[in-house]
Amino acid sequence: MGKAVWSDKKRFIWILSVLLLTAFIFTSGISYKVAHDSLSEQISENTLPLTSDNIYSEIQQDLLQPIFISSLMAQDTFVRDWTINDEEDPQQLIRYLREIQNKYDTVTSFFVSEKSRKYYHSTGVLKKIEDTAPNDAWYFRVRSLPTSESYEVNIDLDTANRTRTVVYVNYKVHDFEGNFIGVTGVGLAVERVQKLIKLYQQRYNRRVYFVDTEGHVTLHGEQYSGSQTLQNSPGLEKYATRILTSPSASFSYVRDNKTVYLNSRMVSDFKWYLMVEQEEAEGEKKILNTFWVNIVLGLMVIVVILVIANLTLGRYQRKLEVMASTDKLTGATNRQMFEEYFSHSLQNAEISATPVSVILLDIDYFKSVNDNFGHSIGDLVIKTVANIIRRQLRSEDIVCRWGGEEFLLLLPNIDLSHAADMAERIRESIAERKISVNEHEIGITVSSGVAQYKLGEPRADLINRVDVALYQAKDRGRDQVVLSH
Ligand code: GH3
Ligand code: MG
Ligand code: MG
Repeated sequence: MGKAVWSDKKRFIWILSVLLLTAFIFTSGISYKVAHDSLSEQISENTLPLTSDNIYSEIQQDLLQPIFISSLMAQDTFVRDWTINDEEDPQQLIRYLREIQNKYDTVTSFFVSEKSRKYYHSTGVLKKIEDTAPNDAWYFRVRSLPTSESYEVNIDLDTANRTRTVVYVNYKVHDFEGNFIGVTGVGLAVERVQKLIKLYQQRYNRRVYFVDTEGHVTLHGEQYSGSQTLQNSPGLEKYATRILTSPSASFSYVRDNKTVYLNSRMVSDFKWYLMVEQEEAEGEKKILNTFWVNIVLGLMVIVVILVIANLTLGRYQRKLEVMASTDKLTGATNRQMFEEYFSHSLQNAEISATPVSVILLDIDYFKSVNDNFGHSIGDLVIKTVANIIRRQLRSEDIVCRWGGEEFLLLLPNIDLSHAADMAERIRESIAERKISVNEHEIGITVSSGVAQYKLGEPRADLINRVDVALYQAKDRGRDQVVLSH
């Protein structure tokens, strides 16, 4: 019985643990996924577009002014008249360029004449443009721009100072009949844009760079470590066409096993794509931390629940065991449980050579109690007898309800004569006690047999001897104690 209850309990605790763990891991997993998804959404739908917007407007402030100035220069009647008039007095144009450069605080200003191929600069005539020089290719590119496009933005080394990178606005100049007569414009240092890129890089851990319509990376921060073209970027190459054919795109790709969110948008004024990227890592780390804290807290809660369940079940189990081992009416040990105590006691006696005695006690003429007062009064009498017996015993003694109104008492460390004394005391206290029922007083007597265990004696023999002694007590007139020697 005890074993079965124990394994039931184990199984219950086991099932409870599995259920709690499953439910808990499931909810933690779900909330992790929700947080993760909302972070992804947050990055791709808010954070990156906002960065892109900010940079875009900064660049507009930085670059639109030079475009505007270049456009004014290209429209300037002085520049056009002077060119048409065979570029007489270069100092006039050089002074004009210097004025522009000073007034608008650009790093350079220039004019190239189609007719003379001279490169005019705020400091003088720098050189002549050559058809074959790679450094001068930009001029012919601008010259061959379709008529719908009047300028290009180009990043190049400064013609006047080859150590400096400059964003050039190259504007086509036409005479009053619309014939191409040269290219003019200003340049500005890329430092400002680069500073901005750096700021976003450092403060928000975002990578900001520009690519032209062919996919070449044109401008980036100092720490930029990516490829020089989109087509060569690991993970990004398959999206190159998509980026370069749509005005804006927003998606994520995998680079070095990390998810990278990307936002691209066309900056139409100079035909570059502004690219803003962010690795998932930062916010993701926080979410993962929360996930682990959840797991640890959850496990603690589960452990507490299991401990409580275990204690509760333990209490319940002990109650069951008591219920299973005692007689309901009298609270005395039942026969099954008694057998265990009995053999244990006898073993003890064998080992330590201490005495053990037993008393078998039976209520006299009990049938007539049942007959005269009814079965439930009979039960009450049995219960009362059990209580009286118990009061006479020591804590280590055991009372067993052996039969209907028969009790077997197991008395460790007690020899025959002491057991006889005890049986006598019990007999007396029962005989003295009058049980009052419905104005009747029921007087009860008991007969007992007493025997001491003999070392090596089979258990059945001991029981038999005490049974015979009880029979003799009955035979000799009841209400007495008979010893078995
Ligand atoms: P004796 O002096 O020879 O022992 O006479 P007795 O009438 O007590 O005879 P015996 O011990 O053989 O009879 C036991 C009776 O007790 C028989 C049965 O009806 C009754 N009895 C057994 N168990 C219970 C019980 O749990 N409750 C009640 N009320 N009666 C019981
Ligand atoms: Mg009897
Ligand atoms: Mg009997």
